[in-house]
Amino acid sequence: MPEGTTSHSHVFHRDLKATYPVAVTGEGGWIIDREGRRYLDASGGAAVSCLGHLHPRVVRAIQQQAGTLEFAHTAFFTSEPAEELADFLVSRAPKGFGRVYFVSGGSEANEMALKLARQIHVERGEPKRAHNIAREQSYHGNTLGVLALGGNPARKELYAPLLGLPVSHIVPCYAYRHRREGESDEAYGLRAAKALEDEILKVGPDTVSAFFAETVVGATAGAVAPAPGYFREIRRICDTYGVLLVLDEVMSGMGRTGTLYACEQDGVVPDMITTAKGLGAGHQPIGATLVREDLARVIERHDGVFRHGHTYIGHPIACAAALETQKVIEDEGLLERVRTAGEMFQDMLVDRFGQHANVGDIRGRGFFRAVELVADRESKAPFPRAKGLAGRIKTHAMAGGLVCYPGNGTADGIDGDHVLLAPPFIMSDDELAMVVDRLEAAIAASLAEVR
Ligand code: PLP
Repeated sequence: MPEGTTSHSHVFHRDLKATYPVAVTGEGGWIIDREGRRYLDASGGAAVSCLGHLHPRVVRAIQQQAGTLEFAHTAFFTSEPAEELADFLVSRAPKGFGRVYFVSGGSEANEMALKLARQIHVERGEPKRAHNIAREQSYHGNTLGVLALGGNPARKELYAPLLGLPVSHIVPCYAYRHRREGESDEAYGLRAAKALEDEILKVGPDTVSAFFAETVVGATAGAVAPAPGYFREIRRICDTYGVLLVLDEVMSGMGRTGTLYACEQDGVVPDMITTAKGLGAGHQPIGATLVREDLARVIERHDGVFRHGHTYIGHPIACAAALETQKVIEDEGLLERVRTAGEMFQDMLVDRFGQHANVGDIRGRGFFRAVELVADRESKAPFPRAKGLAGRIKTHAMAGGLVCYPGNGTADGIDGDHVLLAPPFIMSDDELAMVVDRLEAAIAASLAEVR
């Protein structure tokens, strides 16, 4: 294989025509390739590496667990790391949560939630409840059930004939694009939430199983936080119609927004929370579905068997890595760091891009931020998808030694572009400033190509 490329690789890469640098090691907020080039990892890949790369405590925990017990199938055993991680997560979860189901990533966590919701309704004597509601411009994963659940047309189009899940989509809560002139944030939040009630009434309240939403939308629209009161109203509507509320915090959870779960900032307690990326900080693949105790008891009261499972659920090494990750976050006061440095990072972005002719919005919470690009600030007109702006920014950023996470379909699911930034919680102020400099250069070079 030639130096620094994958052109003769046998790996089935995402883009079979692309050339990828070969990552060989990492160091804090940096990732280093085989040529010795250093990339400032301002998105932790895709909001994964919240402790940066090769955190010594997490590496040690993995080594220790690998030499103690590498695997025990959960059909026969539980393990100390799984039990300890579940205890840790439950003790810090919103009130009422009592169980954690460990999987290997975000898609599996949401698949689990879909199935569990269904089984709970059946066991409660409501077998007609099979329909799910999610939002446009949402992403819940790539396996077929959760791909159907998500609201991203570009990712679904090819597989449409395979997507049999009963699901419908409502408008997202996206103030920059949908709040009316003169409408308060609160009034907008209530109006956006009403779409759920309308949809439940349309499909039939006794047929709806669950409503799924990303608390803060990640990949498909770029760090879009809900309007104040939106999720409280969503909770009220779900309670009124017996619909389970599942909040997808695969990206926004585990401290990314400055609280362990983003929903803590919205005054809402869902029925399930799914999480993944920051849980094991990329040191191991792990996801989790947190479930309210009263819901787990529904299954327990019947035959006690959840009709689902994977070989690698509760993997001891993954659980040990996640437990150490979460302890580091707590011991090093990183939630506080994310809250304060997150505000500073937002200010830096506003200083640099606030007056930029092609930046329409700068938003997010904590270390979960995005810049939305527009062709025209006044009208908010997006760049057409065919211009490929997000892809260009990714290419220029990589060439300039920056990993960020640009996305398209930002405006309406088709057109529009944003850049998502999700730096490691340990990134220094100087490194954050460097992120802004390198991003500015990548955006300038990309805009020069599309204007
Ligand atoms: N849910 C959200 C909100 C995500 O951002 C992602 C991944 O980007 C997923 C689910 C799927 O997670 P995974 O890629 O680990 O399967």
